Amino acid sequence: MTPLLNVDTARSNILAGLHELPAETISLAECLNRVIADDIVSPLDLPPFDNSAMDGYAIRHEDSEGASQEQPVTLTVSLDIRAGAASAGQLEPGSAARIMTGAPIPAGCSAVIPVEDTDDDWQKGEASPLPPELRIGKTLRYGENIRRAGENIASGATIMQAGTSLGPAEIGMLAGIGCAKVNVVRQPKVVILSSGDELVDVHQALEPGQIRDTNSYTLAALVRQSGGLPIRLPIAKDNLDAIRALYRRALEINPDMIISTAGVSVGAADLVKVVMDELGDIDFWRINMRPGKPLAYGTLQGLPFFGLPGNPVSTMVTYEVLVRPALEKLAGRESKPRAIKAAIAEDLTSDGRRSYNRVTLTRHKDGVVARSTGIQSSGALMSMVLADGLAIIPEGRTRVSAGEELSVLPLRDFD
Ligand code: AMP
Ligand code: MG
Repeated sequence: MTPLLNVDTARSNILAGLHELPAETISLAECLNRVIADDIVSPLDLPPFDNSAMDGYAIRHEDSEGASQEQPVTLTVSLDIRAGAASAGQLEPGSAARIMTGAPIPAGCSAVIPVEDTDDDWQKGEASPLPPELRIGKTLRYGENIRRAGENIASGATIMQAGTSLGPAEIGMLAGIGCAKVNVVRQPKVVILSSGDELVDVHQALEPGQIRDTNSYTLAALVRQSGGLPIRLPIAKDNLDAIRALYRRALEINPDMIISTAGVSVGAADLVKVVMDELGDIDFWRINMRPGKPLAYGTLQGLPFFGLPGNPVSTMVTYEVLVRPALEKLAGRESKPRAIKAAIAEDLTSDGRRSYNRVTLTRHKDGVVARSTGIQSSGALMSMVLADGLAIIPEGRTRVSAGEELSVLPLRDFD
């Protein structure tokens, strides 16, 4: 018997052979959750010009010295500046300019007084005439309520690094600097294959002995979650011709990765191995993890290939541990270590392999508590529905005691 392969060694072997996919250029509106391929450098200052942060009056701050509610200072009103004004003019000493939020400040202005700190009420509507005089009831500091050119971003600054996933704020920022087209890493196209005489698709009625294929649906969802584009092919029967045809079809699609489930254990109908040997260069790994010991990895005509175990929980757990980092590498996403620490609520046992236990997670004031979801059979997909995370019992341990702290791979948000 070959020794069991360490999980971390398996992962680094896989990652060593994979590279980020090339970039493509897409329009800004299509960019949500895509990964930028290059650093983004701002070609301009934002804001591009000094402007008012308030609806109010632009003044010279020294003219407000000593002004208070009880002793207002009177200024003459000389200008009216709207947002979008191409030029703002010159503010003479002792005068004020009515100004809107976002409008350029006039030369000489060193503060903006909000309208509510003046005797102007602006309740008169759009066409309110400019008052000849204004009383201000507050002393302002130099620069108060002025947004300076470049205070948000300076021209030439790197505002996002290659590998950043674009969310709403990043997309807005790209619009702000005039970036209408964005270079993003191409999304990996992933073909998903299933085989088994017992499997039928979700639309079909169950005959005796049959179950519905769940793996291709969970995998397609997982791939999408990792930023890939899944392509599910129809289920193949357990015979060589059907499986060969399925793999040929997968290769014709010319994807960036192929993932199959089932057929990698030692069952009599595990013909997938035979076909993989014909078409590719595949290692059959016995990995020191539970669930998920049998796993195939290699290339099929040069394309990265995963043969995951067929049990639905094993499929998902091996995806989390080995496939997700691989796909994230292709997609240019930084694979952050996601594990957290949690105290285990009850004694747990393992067989000495690194064991991924389905747990619920609850935040307490002293930290996070992990509780087993109950049945841990690798066929019981419901344990994944219930689980907030996978609590990891390290290899070499056969038992952990209640209260002990374990690393947990979170699968979703929890309270
Ligand atoms: P196998 O690797 O073919 O021996 O399958 C192991 C177990 O996983 C068996 O109980 C199969 O019925 C089950 N299984 C295999 N493929 C799927 C699938 N696509 N969806 C749900 N269960 C599956
Ligand atoms: Mg099977």
